[in-house]
Amino acid sequence: MLMPLLSLPSRRLFPLITLLAALCATACGSDYKVVKIKQYRLALTQGDAAFKSTFESLINDFNTAAGSTVLTFENDAAKANCSIAVIKDLVKQNADGLGTGKVGLGQWVTQSKQDNPVVIVPGEKPTETILYSMNVQFDQDYLKNGTKYDLQKLFYHEVGHGLELDHNEANEKDVMYPDVGVGETKDFDSYFKYVKSYMAS
Ligand SMILES: [Zn+2]
Repeated sequence: MLMPLLSLPSRRLFPLITLLAALCATACGSDYKVVKIKQYRLALTQGDAAFKSTFESLINDFNTAAGSTVLTFENDAAKANCSIAVIKDLVKQNADGLGTGKVGLGQWVTQSKQDNPVVIVPGEKPTETILYSMNVQFDQDYLKNGTKYDLQKLFYHEVGHGLELDHNEANEKDVMYPDVGVGETKDFDSYFKYVKSYMAS
């Protein structure tokens, strides 16, 4: 029964092979062993080096509240997988573009690496490795002038985006409320409950 198929001219066979490969990639996806690597090594890649100690301190506060080493500060940017940028006129840039009053930006990034899905190792599923990282940005003047608590609120908020959180506009006390709220207290407890469950997932 294979003969008619194999005897097809190659230009007709090629789309069929492509289709079968696509179907297999879809159908076989659930048979992959997924390994999630959430190791956030942050380096100051843009801005005044004097802010390094500020971020070391904020990362230390974050890890203490999270109860484990979620973030590490990396002095050598070549060894980091996450970036921190301190930008002089972030507020001004946002006033022109993304909206007024923004003092920080955060985003999460994933990179999926499929490990030789074509090669079958007897008794083993192909492994899909997902590498997690984040990039965060802060306004220089806000960092200089904010209190320790103001900086914690902002840093936790942007790292929250780095851990896949969206804004929560329903609760002003939420760390992920869009406005950082100078002088207001935020609900750090529920935020760090999320961080713990995210890291365990
Ligand atoms: Zn935000």
